[in-house]
Amino acid sequence: MNPNHADIVIIGGGIIGCAIAYQLSKRQVDVILIEKAARVGTEASWAGAGILTSHASTHDPYPMLCRESLALYPSLSEELKSETDIDIEFIRSGTLSVYFDETEAAGLIGLAERRVNRGFSAEVLTSKQARELEPAISEAIAGAVLFPEDGHVRNPKMVTALANGAAKYGTKFVLGNPVTGFVRENGKVVATIVNGNMIYADTFVIAAGCWTGNLTALLDKQMSVLPVKGQIVLLETIPPLFQRTIDGLGIYIVPRTDGKILLGATVEYVGYDKTTTVDGVKQMIDAAVLISPELTESAFVQTWSGLRPYYKKGPCLGYLPGHENVIMATGHFKNGILLAPITGKLIAELITSGETSISLSPFTPVCD
Ligand SMILES: Cc1cc2nc3c(=O)[nH]c(=O)nc-3n(C[C@H](O)[C@H](O)[C@H](O)COP(=O)(O)OP(=O)(O)OC[C@H]3O[C@@H](n4cnc5c(N)ncnc54)[C@H](O)[C@@H]3O)c2cc1C
Repeated sequence: MNPNHADIVIIGGGIIGCAIAYQLSKRQVDVILIEKAARVGTEASWAGAGILTSHASTHDPYPMLCRESLALYPSLSEELKSETDIDIEFIRSGTLSVYFDETEAAGLIGLAERRVNRGFSAEVLTSKQARELEPAISEAIAGAVLFPEDGHVRNPKMVTALANGAAKYGTKFVLGNPVTGFVRENGKVVATIVNGNMIYADTFVIAAGCWTGNLTALLDKQMSVLPVKGQIVLLETIPPLFQRTIDGLGIYIVPRTDGKILLGATVEYVGYDKTTTVDGVKQMIDAAVLISPELTESAFVQTWSGLRPYYKKGPCLGYLPGHENVIMATGHFKNGILLAPITGKLIAELITSGETSISLSPFTPVCD
């Protein structure tokens, strides 16, 4: 194989780029993945909380895409375990959404009823029933709704597993330098430029998260994929306090299998700033302690933040307008971990057969 040529070049080694590389290389496609950091999965795909929400309230394209992706998790986690020996810690633990007053109750119970009417599952619980499931929840809650299909995954392990799996099937990784340009011949993109070198391919996939706009600008297309900061707080309790993800007061509490508890997340439109702030951390701890007063005794472990890729029309999947061999796979915002399996599958189908098992038309890239 020519080290400077592949069938497909993928730009961006987050969970989306790695999922596409894995699916393509499993189908014997020759892939080079270029990542500007020294390792894959150091940005949003590392920072994310790993909640897999079933989004089961309508049959619209976006919730359908989320559900199709969640349905791929059980077999994918088994497959990655056998291919790479990495346990991505997928569990279908459910989410317990708690409410404190009548306004919150109306919203959540209404959502549960709509879900059930459409054939999906949700269970409205009294405060007592909720506390029987999760005894560490405050007596002050007025009730809760259980969404039993929701799951959780350890996303940093998943990125590593996808990258290792892709490498096993032949993907080559070019790490440590960004793509800074494209070479075009007769208007068609033929190569990327990385550290002064050209890497040629037939097709290019841009999976660069919230940096996507920098790359499309190099192709004379403006596409706003904005960074949206999310801060996370990590705590530890021994013994573990919760079995399920708890959601309420604008935050979520995620019990990890290693006994740590993750609180998340702020939603901040502050550009490419990844500072963790007293205000952000305080907001999450204040809400978490109202939901579970026992958390005041927990050990404070660390905070971090990451930048979600926000695209106003939802995930952006398909050909970049005006470019017959440049595919976009970005803009997954708050659900990129959830959507990675289906994104990998659909983009691999698009490249290998020109058709996809789920229509990508609702997610067609549109320039600004
Ligand atoms: C705090 C927080 C909590 C979250 N919680 C959840 C959750 O519970 N569930 C869920 O499903 N999702 C969650 N998300 C969202 C999810 O993490 C993202 O949607 C997902 O990680 C996006 O993946 P990505 O591969 O598109 O982007 P990224 O992970 O950002 O990867 C993009 C990669 O492209 C690389 N890159 C950029 N420019 C270039 C270039 N010019 N050349 C080469 N490489 C380049 C970057 O270095 C980066 O590694 C959360 C996000 C945050 C921040």
